[in-house]
Amino acid sequence: MKYCTCESCRFTFRYPILPPACIDCGEGPVRNATDEEIEDYHRKQKILQAKIMSSLYAGASA
Ligand SMILES: [Zn+2]
Repeated sequence: MKYCTCESCRFTFRYPILPPACIDCGEGPVRNATDEEIEDYHRKQKILQAKIMSSLYAGASA
């Protein structure tokens, strides 16, 4: 899997190949993510995971 970043919307995502267009906004160009962007991607994934977990718990207690 590659780490790709869209120049149009700055979205970073993992994909088997470097796609010609962004999977989020459908534009581009899409280039290889920098180390900094890859770090940021992992940070966001963790936050997302935490949000999913807390919403699951919130749902269970409601
Ligand atoms: Zn995009």
